[in-house]
Amino acid sequence: MKAIQLIEPNVLIEKNLPNPTPSAGEVVIKVKSVGICGTDVGIYRGNMEVKYPIVLGHEFCGYVVGIGDGVTNVKIGDYVISEPSWGCGVCYYCQRGTPSYCCEPRMYGRTCDGALAEYVKSPARIIHKIASYIQPIEAQSVTSIATALRGIKRSNLKVGQSVVIQGPGYSGLNLAQLAKISGASPVIVTGTRDTRLELAKQVGADVVVNVNETNWQNKILEATNGRGPDVVIEATGRPDAIPQAIDMVKMGGTILVFSVTNGVVRELQAVKLYQKDISLIGNKGGYFEYGNAIEFLESGIIKEREMVSHTFSLCDTPQAFDFAINNKSEVMRSVILFD
Ligand SMILES: [Zn+2]
Ligand SMILES: [Zn+2]
Repeated sequence: MKAIQLIEPNVLIEKNLPNPTPSAGEVVIKVKSVGICGTDVGIYRGNMEVKYPIVLGHEFCGYVVGIGDGVTNVKIGDYVISEPSWGCGVCYYCQRGTPSYCCEPRMYGRTCDGALAEYVKSPARIIHKIASYIQPIEAQSVTSIATALRGIKRSNLKVGQSVVIQGPGYSGLNLAQLAKISGASPVIVTGTRDTRLELAKQVGADVVVNVNETNWQNKILEATNGRGPDVVIEATGRPDAIPQAIDMVKMGGTILVFSVTNGVVRELQAVKLYQKDISLIGNKGGYFEYGNAIEFLESGIIKEREMVSHTFSLCDTPQAFDFAINNKSEVMRSVILFD
């Protein structure tokens, strides 16, 4: 089969690999689409440890074409998506129902070959069926929706509460849509690019604020009765967003740090957490929200098609990565589409 291998940081090559065969409990999926996310780009650039050579791609959909012994939840021909990672099943955390804390987590494109290939092998227990009317260009989004959904639930955002989402990127706009669905009001999105903020409005943000404008903080105060938002969700990947969130959140409010960043937060005044009685929380993955994410997509209450900015073929995957790195401001979401 045709596959795109990462042989060292920043070097992707096309290669013919043997077709995978399913062992017991596994399925083989013919890939139809792969979404390229920040983690893929991080691995590509060498920011995360992986075993080379490796096939990247962990947010994907496709058709089941092979089934190992003992698989009962899917059959040949089913249209499916997969969770991107899974626990070992036997460690302290897995045995307590928290596989996201697994001591030896497995992930496509990190510990085993991923979906930037004609076929990919998956454990059947992390496969979910999805309705055939959801096009592959949208079905690749389930992981992002599930992760955002878990984040919204962890932030404890309630009906009628105000929320600021910092960063109108792909994750930020999924968070904004889910905040709106949760009944938050107003849903405020902050960012630096007007085109992105316009898209935020299109997918349901009530108020958008460009933080390059003077007095942008006043706009947030005006939209929140002078008190600041109940919840701030950081979706920028920028360390300086966190002190900003601490300053803007309401007394007793909650800050969810959603976007992964290796950067150091330099000016965090911890005393403000005390003074404002702030809850500061993180979010790791979308475990147990995949079924709900699929239902949101199938029912049409979350919009994904308009968030895909670029598509590429499998052969053009190296260009897709280069493009994502060199045109950061243009790329909202790149998707590899298969024939
Ligand atoms: Zn990802
Ligand atoms: Zn485990």
